Amino acid sequence: MALMGRMMSDPLLISSLLKHAERHSGETEIVSKRVEGDLHRSNWREVARRSRQAAQAFARLGCEPGDRVATLAWNGHRHMEIYYGSSGSALVCHTINPRLFPEQIVWIANDAQDRVLCFDATFLPLVEKIAPLLKTVKHFVLMTSRAHMPASTGIPGLLCFDDLLDAETGNYVWPQFDENTASSICYTSGTTGNPKGAVYSHRSTVLHAYAAALPDAMDCSSRDVILPVVPMFHVNAWGLPYSAAIVGCKFVLPGPHLDGKSLFELFEGEKVSFSAGVPTVWLGLLNYVKANNLKFSTFKRTVIGGSACPPAMMKSLQEDFGIEVIHAWGMTEMSPLGTLSKLTTRQLGLPHEQQQRLLEKQGRVIYGVDMAIIDDDGRSLPWDGVSSGNLVVRGHWVIARYFNHDESPLISVDGEPGWFPTGDVATIDADGFMQITDRSKDVIKSGGEWISSIDLENIAMAHPAVHEAAVIAARHPKWDERPLLVVVKKPDATVTREELLAFYDGRIAKWQIPDDVVFVAEIPHTATGKMQKLKLRDQFLSHKLPTA
Ligand code: ADP
Repeated sequence: MALMGRMMSDPLLISSLLKHAERHSGETEIVSKRVEGDLHRSNWREVARRSRQAAQAFARLGCEPGDRVATLAWNGHRHMEIYYGSSGSALVCHTINPRLFPEQIVWIANDAQDRVLCFDATFLPLVEKIAPLLKTVKHFVLMTSRAHMPASTGIPGLLCFDDLLDAETGNYVWPQFDENTASSICYTSGTTGNPKGAVYSHRSTVLHAYAAALPDAMDCSSRDVILPVVPMFHVNAWGLPYSAAIVGCKFVLPGPHLDGKSLFELFEGEKVSFSAGVPTVWLGLLNYVKANNLKFSTFKRTVIGGSACPPAMMKSLQEDFGIEVIHAWGMTEMSPLGTLSKLTTRQLGLPHEQQQRLLEKQGRVIYGVDMAIIDDDGRSLPWDGVSSGNLVVRGHWVIARYFNHDESPLISVDGEPGWFPTGDVATIDADGFMQITDRSKDVIKSGGEWISSIDLENIAMAHPAVHEAAVIAARHPKWDERPLLVVVKKPDATVTREELLAFYDGRIAKWQIPDDVVFVAEIPHTATGKMQKLKLRDQFLSHKLPTA
């Protein structure tokens, strides 16, 4: 019989992260720009105390282990207190994306059977409208103080978050329970069909938070000032509220104030060193900073992911502002981190251009996740940087099943079961650097050859007149599909279709160059900031290509 270790084995619980931060970094600040408009200063000790009060308050409202506490909220200290207060007391924190359509929000809340709904004042009109449709919600809690409660509201019995907490002592001992207990739920955006719930566990969340903080991942330390632009309502803000507790650093939360000016002022005022978000956020911030001839004084590095980071944006952040860009890939079903692009010792000896090519890829897996690329028959493909295939993953923080779905989404690779198909198409090179070439549904299939829409978008984004670019498949009588470039011009910029097409010359194989260009005022985005190519495709379904 195997010899058992003689080590302590406390379960990996989210409450242990907060206990650690409170005990060892209690005075370190948590700063929130709130919906009310003020800049609120708190610290880990205070947030820990209020999280315990929140746990007591949820219990007083009748919540029992496993019950879902939903949020419709921006990044702020009260959201943190709900994260820790609910999960820590064996409830499940269900973050809902407020940018979804109201019907989707109702569907998600009913699917998750939420018992309590906590929300920021921004969403009061929304909640007033949907409250009668939320079948399982027993209590509605406005995340504000007594002074900011509305005089009248359409929500009977609306509760005040600060009042609920103030009524509790905070003398609460975090319970111990199985680390595989559910801690939070996040639904995918549901670009096709109804959204599906990913149910994270305490164990997966703590392991993910550890890994995310590693130097080859987000490289978090106590000396950082972290400002997650990535919303706490989607995939737990990429784990940063937990990793920040592990390292005990200052944490800055921007609330609803996500425009370039507000962000820049918060970065400067609070001496932010590290941030994370989707590419569209940086578009806004960079435009503001450039237009006003400003420089960042403390901002040193950022993780960009959620969709492909255009190389031109990476270059501008690096060369104009001295900010290190860490390109990352992941998904809701992966908590979300899978890969990050950080160079190895050997690669640091390569010429600058080659290093840049590597940094533009989505990078290497962190321990805790494994990946493979496979063909349509489930056979793994070589890691040669050229063969592209369906990307599959497995690991400590990858879902095994969706909430309320019995069937397993997992598939076999070379006969070995237990891999999650990501729906992405990728190459992996000999050093293990993965590069997403497309989402399988966005690939352009031209005469049996695949064309990567991301490659074509990246080239367009490097043109000085282009603000945003999407490349979609347009129907073609001979080739089946051909690439169509959809462009939003920068304000005041002038550029013609011919100039843009000529810009591709020498940058990509001739047969991959888009057949046509259309200029639009705006590209639609999903609730998580990704370009909605499906919508664009519907819009331009009947676009007549000049080559057709
Ligand atoms: P959704 O709910 O919209 O699927 P996710 O955040 O789960 O939101 O999206 C995950 C998907 O986003 C990935 O499967 C991939 O297609 C895309 N994605 C994420 N990061 C990157 C990246 N760095 N480059 C390219 N695509 C990315």
